Amino acid sequence: MRTALAIDIGGTKLAAGVIDASGQVLASERLTTVRMNTADELFETLGQLSRRVLRATAARPQSIGVGCSGPMQYPAGIVSPLNIPVWRGFPLRERLSSTFGLACVVDGDAKALALGERWRGAGRGSNNMLGMVVSTGVGGGIILDGRLLHGNLGNAGHVGHIVVWPNGPLCGCGTRGCVEGIASGSGLARRLDEALKLGTRSCLTPGSTAADIADAARQGDLLAVELFRTAGEAVGRGIASAAALLDLELVAIGGSIALRAWDLLGPPLERELRNTARLDFTRSVRVVQAELGDDAGLFGAAQLAFALL
Ligand SMILES: [Zn+2]
Repeated sequence: MRTALAIDIGGTKLAAGVIDASGQVLASERLTTVRMNTADELFETLGQLSRRVLRATAARPQSIGVGCSGPMQYPAGIVSPLNIPVWRGFPLRERLSSTFGLACVVDGDAKALALGERWRGAGRGSNNMLGMVVSTGVGGGIILDGRLLHGNLGNAGHVGHIVVWPNGPLCGCGTRGCVEGIASGSGLARRLDEALKLGTRSCLTPGSTAADIADAARQGDLLAVELFRTAGEAVGRGIASAAALLDLELVAIGGSIALRAWDLLGPPLERELRNTARLDFTRSVRVVQAELGDDAGLFGAAQLAFALL
C-alpha cells in the first residue's frame, strides 16, 4: 500500500508521521517545544524527527507531504512562516527532497488541516468547506466544489488576515484588526500585555500564554473573559465574511486554542456568527471543532503526498 512521510510545522511545534493510503498512522511523533535559533538548527531537528518516525516502521514511504504555517511560495515550497522568524525564504521542499531522496510537496498547514478533516474528520463528504487553525496564528484552507484552492501564490485561505475590527489590535502582518491579531495565541498574549500596561486589573502577569489566559477566564478573571469573548467574536465575524464570499457548507476549526479552549471561544463565536451572517446561504453554515485533533495536519500532509504520485 502507498505510504507517505507526513510533516506538520506550526509556530511552536513539529510533528511527523508515516501514514498509509487507508488512513492508518504507522508511526508518529510530536515535538511541542522546539529550539529555533537558526534556520539550519530547526531543519536539523525536523530531519532527526523524520528519521525517528521512519525507523519506527517497516514501511517505506514513496513521497513526503508537508503542511507548514504561511506565508510561502507554492509550489516551490519556499517558506517564510510569520511565527518562525528564522525561516525567511527557506527552501523547505528542496531541502527535504534532497535529504530523503523523495518527491516532496509543501503546502499551508491550514490547507493541510482542511484536507485532513475532509478525508478522515469532521468534513467527510463536504465539497464546500473551510478548515481553520486557531493556534499560535490563525489560518485557513478552502475546499470549494471539491477542490483545494491555491490562488496566485498558493496562499488562498488566509482567513486570519480578514480585518474584523477597524483600528483594532496590531497583527503580526503589520495591519490592525485582523482575526489573527485578536484571536491567535500570540494575539491574545499581546493584547493581555497591552491591557496590563494600561492598568487593567487581572490575576495574570505580563508574558502569560494563551493557556494561562484560558485558565484565568475559567476562574472568572474579567480581563481574561473579555479577551476570549472578543477573540470568539473576531473568529465569528471572519467566518461570516468567508461564508458570504465562498458559499460554505461547513467550517471545521482545529489548532491548540480551538481544541483546548472551545468552551471559551465557541459560544461568542456562534453568537457573533448568527448576528452577522444574515443571508440564507450564510446562515446555514455549520461551525464545528476539527475531529482529528492535533493529527489533522498530518492526515492532510499525507493527502498532499499521495496526490504527488
Ligand atoms: Zn494580519
